[in-house]
Amino acid sequence: MTRILHRSIGVALPHAASAQGVYITDTMGRRYLDGSGGAAVTSVGHAHPEVLAAMRSQIDNLCYAHTSFFTTDAAEELAEKLVDLAPEGLDYVYLVSGGSEAVEAALKMARQYFVEINQPQRRHIIARRQSYHGNTIGALATGGNAMRRQQFQPILPETHHVSPCYAYRDKGIDETPEAYAARLADELEAKILELGPDEVMAFVAEPVVGATLGAVASEADYFKRVRAICDKYGVLLILDEVMCGMGRTGTVFACEQDGVTPDIVTIAKGLGGGYQPIGAVMLSASIYASFANGSGLFQHGHTYLGHPVAAAAANKVVEIIARPETLANVNAMGARLQSGLEAALGAFPYVGDIRGRGLFRGIEIVADRESKVPFDPARKLHAKIKRQAMARGLVSYPMGGTIDGINGDHILLAPPYIIEASEIDLIIERIAESIDAAI
Ligand code: PLP
Repeated sequence: MTRILHRSIGVALPHAASAQGVYITDTMGRRYLDGSGGAAVTSVGHAHPEVLAAMRSQIDNLCYAHTSFFTTDAAEELAEKLVDLAPEGLDYVYLVSGGSEAVEAALKMARQYFVEINQPQRRHIIARRQSYHGNTIGALATGGNAMRRQQFQPILPETHHVSPCYAYRDKGIDETPEAYAARLADELEAKILELGPDEVMAFVAEPVVGATLGAVASEADYFKRVRAICDKYGVLLILDEVMCGMGRTGTVFACEQDGVTPDIVTIAKGLGGGYQPIGAVMLSASIYASFANGSGLFQHGHTYLGHPVAAAAANKVVEIIARPETLANVNAMGARLQSGLEAALGAFPYVGDIRGRGLFRGIEIVADRESKVPFDPARKLHAKIKRQAMARGLVSYPMGGTIDGINGDHILLAPPYIIEASEIDLIIERIAESIDAAI
C-alpha cells in the first residue's frame, strides 16, 4: 500500500536505502549498479565525501534566505565558477531548482529581452521534433516529443518544430554529413521565413538529444550553421544542456564540441549531481544589459531559486567535474562503453544503432536492422528491458519509441563520471543479457 501517486501506478518499486559511488542499495540489501545515473543526474557518484562536507558546512551556517532580500556566498561563487567554465559569451547566471524551471526561465528571458530592446513582436519559438525540454506547460510545448505532448496538446501554447539532426534515420545514403547539416539548416531558415523573420524569438535545441532519442549528437557543422541562421535573423539560440551538459559528454558544456556559443544555455541534472535539486540558466552579456539598462529586473522568480544548500552542493560538484582527471575518465570510460557495447551487441539482429559522446550513450532497438522498422510500441519493449535490467542489478534508462513511429525503443546509459573499467564491463554484460531476455 502506498499513498504516493507514483509515475507508474501499481508497479512495486524497491525502496532505495543507501548509495555509494556507482551503487544504490535497497532496503532488502540488493545492490544496483547505477548505469544511467538515474536519468543522467548522478555525475560525480553517490555520497562523494567532498560534496557531503560542503553541504554540511552550508547547512550549519545557513539553510535559506529569500533571494529578494539576500544573496549568498554559495550562490555568488557558483555563478562565478560556471561563468569561468562556460564558453566565452555566457557571462551571467540565473539559478533555479531543476531542468524544466531552467527552460521556462530561458523562454521568458528571451521574450523579455525582445520587449526590452523594443521588438515586442518577436514571440515565436521554434524547436525540434523528437526533443524533450521538460514537463511544465511551456517546456512541454517547446519539446517535440509527440507521446509526452499528446493529451496536453489542447492546453499547450503554440510552438513550431523542425527536424532534429538524426543521421541514423534521416541522412540519405549518398548524403554527406555536411550536406545533411545544410539541408536541416535550410529547413530551419525556411521555417523562420514562413513565420516572419522579425517575429521569431528563439530556436531551442539539445546539443545531444537525450530522453527522446537516446544520445543523438549532431552531424558535421550543423550547430555552426544553425548559429549563423539565428544571427542572420536576430533569433536567440537557446541550447538545452539540462541532460547532456556538465561534463556528461566529455566537455563541461556539450556545445563546446559543436563549436558554438548559444545566447542562453540551460543546465541542471549533473549540476547538482543528485545531491540537491538545482538548475541554472546562463545568458549573454547583451541579454543581461537589456534588463539592466531597461526595466532593471527580470520579471520572473521562484521561492527556492539560488537555494544556498543546493548552491553549496553544486559548487563542489562543479569543482569536481572540472578537474582534468574527471573529464579524462568520462572520455576514457565513454570510449570503453561504446566499443564494449559494439562488441557485445553488434551481432544482435535487433540492435540498430549504438551512439553518443562521453558517458552519454544510446542503443536503438529495431525489429529489423535493414529496414530500421521499430518494434510494435504495444510490446512496451523498453519497459521489459528496464525490468530485466533491474532484476540483474542494473539501473538503465530505456524509453519507448515516439508515437509518430519515427524511432524505436532505445536505452540511455549515463553512469557517474567516477566509474571504473570493471564497472563499465558489468553494465555491458548486464544490458546485453537484459535486451536478449526482453526480446
Ligand atoms: N531538458 C532536457 C534536455 C531534459 O532531458 C530534461 C529532463 O529529462 C528537462 C529539460 C527537464 O528537467 P527536469 O526533469 O529537471 O525538470
